[in-house]
Amino acid sequence: MGACCYCRSKAGFFKKVCPNCLKLEEAFHQLEASGSFGYNELLDTLLATGAPTDTIDKFLEIDVDGKGSPRNRVTARMTNEVMGSLGIPSDMKPEDVKKVRETMAKEKKD
Ligand SMILES: [Zn+2]
Repeated sequence: MGACCYCRSKAGFFKKVCPNCLKLEEAFHQLEASGSFGYNELLDTLLATGAPTDTIDKFLEIDVDGKGSPRNRVTARMTNEVMGSLGIPSDMKPEDVKKVRETMAKEKKD
């Protein structure tokens, strides 16, 4: 049995993603393709798939394709939009968000 690459639950034979995360992935890609959306909208859309919230939590943090985890991708885009609306050019990438979050988590521990 393969394990789901997002939540590590059983995904089934020759499958990398379990049925819940497959629904989450589809919903997320659809939302991304639709353009602008906020964090609440993202959570609403993911919850609407019927997936358990702890699966959604894991899904948001996993970077499967090297383009950044869903949470970091959304944060980067939203930051750029806010900065842009203030007239400040911003080109934040998901990996920048990751670095900021790692730094913040480290400082909390110290
Ligand atoms: Zn899964």
